Amino acid sequence: MNDTIDFKEKLTNFYRYPSICLFQDGIKKDTQAEYMSFLDKPRIKTDRQQMVYIHIPFCSYLCNYCPFYKVPERSHTAMIEPFVKALVKEIEMYAERGFFKGVKITNINWGGGTPMLLGTEHIITILDALYKNLDCSEVGVVSIEGDAFSLQDKDKLKALKAHGVTRTSMGIQTFNERLRKKLGVLPDVTDVYKSVKAIERADFGEWGCDILYNCPDQNVTEIRYNVDRIAELSPWVIDAYDLNISPNTKLQKMVDAGKFNTIPNNISEINMFQALMEGFEGHGYPQTRSVNWNNPEHMPHENGILNVFNSDLISFGPSGRTFLYSTGKNYRNHTNLEKYIEDINNGLFPLEAGNDVTQTQLEERDIMLVPYFLERKKTDINYSRFKEKIDIMAHNDYMYTTDDSVGITEKGKMWAGNIQYFFHSDDEMGRMAKSMFKSIQEKKNLFNQDLMNV
Ligand code: SF4
Repeated sequence: MNDTIDFKEKLTNFYRYPSICLFQDGIKKDTQAEYMSFLDKPRIKTDRQQMVYIHIPFCSYLCNYCPFYKVPERSHTAMIEPFVKALVKEIEMYAERGFFKGVKITNINWGGGTPMLLGTEHIITILDALYKNLDCSEVGVVSIEGDAFSLQDKDKLKALKAHGVTRTSMGIQTFNERLRKKLGVLPDVTDVYKSVKAIERADFGEWGCDILYNCPDQNVTEIRYNVDRIAELSPWVIDAYDLNISPNTKLQKMVDAGKFNTIPNNISEINMFQALMEGFEGHGYPQTRSVNWNNPEHMPHENGILNVFNSDLISFGPSGRTFLYSTGKNYRNHTNLEKYIEDINNGLFPLEAGNDVTQTQLEERDIMLVPYFLERKKTDINYSRFKEKIDIMAHNDYMYTTDDSVGITEKGKMWAGNIQYFFHSDDEMGRMAKSMFKSIQEKKNLFNQDLMNV
């Protein structure tokens, strides 16, 4: 075999396949009844877990780099009440159809935005709507995200724990105060420590955190410092995300205006990720997914949040993305709070865009998730279909095969995103290129395709 592949530019990990594009997959109001008719039949029997995601779009400040759909809480306070009502109604609209009959939910994950920003009574109202309308008798994980401001309230954490919440995660991002300010992350490092203390005092148990690498003005020394500080805090799991400077964002404008001394390049990105891998492993945290490291005493649950991409997922809330292996449905809600509430109040599902995934695309998704999971069983993928490409990756020491599994090598862990793209179909690459072109042209966020409010 002569195919020599030498990855040079590290690509971002990819979690969702196939993509959903506003410009190619828009769902019109008059076709949504047909698109959602799958809800009338019970879910097909499958071994895959059924998870639920709740998107809460409010943030008390807007970070300059953030691609997620969110709105500033200060200017949208009056919308919180109607939003919570709409969210409860959306859950009820799903529950009154046949799809969920006999389906046990295994995991409820709250993201955003900053879900912990909501008042305790609002969070409990939404949880009660889930508990009342869906079969949550076997839910193993109820996870809620917060920031270093919203996680300081020990009593709130205790109340949520008493109401079934089992896990929280905090966006720490970096311990460098100067960089935090430049990135628009308002809480300071003292707030991070206060939050960890509150989580401990509430006896919350499971908690995780997010950190960033590949930021402007960041270097390997800072990454090592961050890793050491995080290891001292002993979270159960760490997610490390590479910061991409998206076009048309405030961060891009700051970079263009020379507000940063150094801008990451291919080499610094590789060095920073290497420092993360070595640092966490050095602290006894094994790498458990392409961007995750776990406390060895608390390895990922069978029904944990880390398995979300391999499960059926129904999402509620603006920008929420649903993916159902069982029906091939792949869609997302409006990335606009007003439209989201309006549709629900008019008795419509708040759909913005979606497609129907073919068996061929499902197989591509399964192979694409090998680098994310680090290893998968051959029986979980269409091995024979992808054997030629797997052999090329193995020949270049990015992947390995055993009698019953396929995985990525130590060298491959650096290039998980590149390996994923190697398995993307030409069709999907074409769709993604078109989506990127149109998003930049229309000044929309490529990640969500909302109007970028950063
Ligand atoms: S990164 Fe910042 S702006 Fe984005 S969701 Fe988190 S707190 Fe909000």
